[in-house]
Amino acid sequence: MVTTTVDAILDSVLRGDNLSPVDGVVLLKQTDPGAIAAIRITADKLRQQQVGDTVTYIINRNINFTNICEQHCSFCAFRRDEGETGAYWLEEAQILEKVTDAVQRNATEICMQGGLHPQAKVNGKSLNYYLKLVETVKQKFPKLHLHAFSPQEVQFIARVDGLEYSHVITALREAGVDSMPGTAAEVLDNEVRRILCPEKIDTETWLEIVSTAHKLGVHTTSTMLSGHIETAEQQIGHLEKLRSLQQTAINSKYPAKITEFILLPFVGQEAPKSLRRRVGRDQPILADALLLTAVARIFLGNLIPNHQPSWVKLGLEGATEALKWGCNDIGGTLMEEHITTMAGAIGGTCMEVETLLSAIASIKRPQQLRDTLYRYI
Ligand code: SF4
Repeated sequence: MVTTTVDAILDSVLRGDNLSPVDGVVLLKQTDPGAIAAIRITADKLRQQQVGDTVTYIINRNINFTNICEQHCSFCAFRRDEGETGAYWLEEAQILEKVTDAVQRNATEICMQGGLHPQAKVNGKSLNYYLKLVETVKQKFPKLHLHAFSPQEVQFIARVDGLEYSHVITALREAGVDSMPGTAAEVLDNEVRRILCPEKIDTETWLEIVSTAHKLGVHTTSTMLSGHIETAEQQIGHLEKLRSLQQTAINSKYPAKITEFILLPFVGQEAPKSLRRRVGRDQPILADALLLTAVARIFLGNLIPNHQPSWVKLGLEGATEALKWGCNDIGGTLMEEHITTMAGAIGGTCMEVETLLSAIASIKRPQQLRDTLYRYI
């Protein structure tokens, strides 16, 4: 039976009120099937009101230029030490070949991120190496949208070269970076981060770098790694930080803001043993991911209207189901995916456009090709 509390909360958000953190936790803790169904219906209605019925998708390619990384995040099956079996570092020609192939397959976006490789320098500078990566993509394909380098990579460059974040972001933007992936957010809670990714930037630094990007005219996405050691309160705390970051960008009239929210449920199959043991399962629990998807739409939708599930983490069937729980975008073709695949994800590494389109058609919603900034193509 749907409780009065849940009914009252859902009525209030349907009238346009922002969901409070306390009420967000109430929604996330529901176990009653009737209450969960009501939350799904509300998220779906809000999605309809906020962005309509159209499901968007993008033709893009992921390029992870190296998996050599100085850090040791406890969920990461992608990283390697230099010289370790499976370690790789792409040459410029290999990157260009991948970009050229993506363009031939009508990609409008290259998403480029990599491990934090201490030797990745040109003339002794980390920033020069990253600028070279940008040039490799942009010199031949200046119109391609380059969605590149997480807040963690920005901090890595700044730390290695002794620069301000604003200097790094400006230099990357001027070289041709068009937007910043909001990855490395994991859960924006320092208690969780101490266990999950102790060497990574803390919550405040992530927020500072993303806000600086907005101020400097660089749009970002936003993400959350869910379903491991975090509590419902910490999940809502994360959403609250994203909402207030977006509110700041809007209130301060920054030239850029958060373009979308992507939920990334934890895949633990190949994750380092200690975290895997602690979480106690290999694949995400779809029901938990869907409830959080719905609550994220309810919590953020007034300010961040685009929500994308991860077909890599949930499989295409799970991601298609998420379109009924508040999502309005099915994501991209990716063409290659290493980070989650090396973690044991079942979703695959590449999606053909036709496959994404049939997934959208299966729920009888219209489809639309988009660019990175959600403009229709
Ligand atoms: S998640 Fe990123 S920063 Fe952490 S170990 Fe893996 S590659 Fe390195």
